[in-house]
Amino acid sequence: MAAWVEATSSRARRTPRARCRTTATATTCCNEPDRDCARCPRLAAFRAQNRVAFPDFHNAPVPSEGGVCARILVVGLAPALKGGNRSGLPFRGDASGRWLRAALDRHGLGEDMVRITNAVRCVPPANRPTAAEVAACRPFLVGELSGPELRVALALGRVAHDAVFGALGLRGAAFGHGAVHALGRLTLVDSYHPSPQNTNTGRLTPAMFDAVFKTLKDLL
Ligand code: SF4
Repeated sequence: MAAWVEATSSRARRTPRARCRTTATATTCCNEPDRDCARCPRLAAFRAQNRVAFPDFHNAPVPSEGGVCARILVVGLAPALKGGNRSGLPFRGDASGRWLRAALDRHGLGEDMVRITNAVRCVPPANRPTAAEVAACRPFLVGELSGPELRVALALGRVAHDAVFGALGLRGAAFGHGAVHALGRLTLVDSYHPSPQNTNTGRLTPAMFDAVFKTLKDLL
């Protein structure tokens, strides 16, 4: 199993490695936005600004990572300016990503089992997407949620939680760390986001995060 914390080529990591056991194919899920997607004018303007300020960064919608036959989908908020927006991979290159990927490795969850995405694919100013931007990016999350072998989604934070409900066309239930929501063929598990604001203050501890991953594995 490839370790998530090891730095590897983004191209290699985007390539699905597992064969789906169902007859459905990758074409039923996982459409990626265009590099210059303009559905969110504010985010497109921020992207243009960042292409000038940080020419070596990815500065485009950040594609999902992991196999299309994954059974677990991790849904974050949006790429961080110097995290996913720099590396071109979700949750790679910043403290939140290190927390998440270390937890995946601790629990033996490799890229054949897990896919990682964000509710909003483009970096928002101050890490705060608007409700309209979450809605505009919804079609891409809908695609991810149609993964042929997907069984469990992990929402990292309330925005991701609400985005999953919205993408499934369901009325939202309250977000709560460790809460489990049965949503038809899919089960949603909530967790606080592993942001430094949460992990540095003890709002989210390694033990709390490990308990969430134990729940995820029990649901597979
Ligand atoms: S956040 Fe999503 S919908 Fe909005 S511009 Fe980026 S890729 Fe397009």
